[in-house]
Amino acid sequence: MIIAIDGPAGAGKSTVARRVASELGAAFLDTGAMYRAITLVVLERGIHPGDATACAGVAQETVLDFAPDGTIRIDGRPGEPDIRGETVTRNVSAVSAHGGVREAIVAEQRALARRLGNVVAEGRDTTTVVFPAADHKFFLSASPAVRARRRAEQDNVPERYEAIRADIERRDRLDATRALSPLVQAADAVAINADQLDVDAVVGRILSTVRASHPSDA
Ligand code: C5P
Repeated sequence: MIIAIDGPAGAGKSTVARRVASELGAAFLDTGAMYRAITLVVLERGIHPGDATACAGVAQETVLDFAPDGTIRIDGRPGEPDIRGETVTRNVSAVSAHGGVREAIVAEQRALARRLGNVVAEGRDTTTVVFPAADHKFFLSASPAVRARRRAEQDNVPERYEAIRADIERRDRLDATRALSPLVQAADAVAINADQLDVDAVVGRILSTVRASHPSDA
């Protein structure tokens, strides 16, 4: 079974997807971590994030997999916490916009899902491009103000609220307007707006939708 959850940066997709996966005994596939990992290697090698050919080469050569705890490994070494750093976050939208990068990463995502069987995937195009035939699709969103406030609280940096909000709005714009696989809500995705819902409520809504059609997972 594949459950796909898309939505903008900071909507809580990772936390929600991780919880849903653990409730259902499924694997968690953090597709954003894969684009972050490629961006980290691109920057480490001194490649310009706008260099489509060189970035695609990195995406083809680099072996990505996930440790049992769901964290990414890059050619066998842990990707955390470096893939969450500010430089990677600033450059990941540029690297992930290249067609050659997306082609290589999407192929890896499908191969991982085939190997893992039951998967909860989250990202920007998991409902539209990577797994268009997913058993369940959700689009999780929240306003930029709510996403920035939650991120600032979670990381305990209230003074960075404005900077975080600006970054979220910048990435929304880049991810939604790029030519390839832009962030859009799939016509058949269940929309969840998390402005008034906490993580437990979002997880509960997803699980009840899934369990309603797969009673054996209950
Ligand atoms: O989800 P996260 O914020 O870690 O994703 C980082 C970036 O990776 C996004 O801003 C987007 O540019 C890219 N991404 C993507 N397609 C996905 C997941 C993430 O292009 N499926």
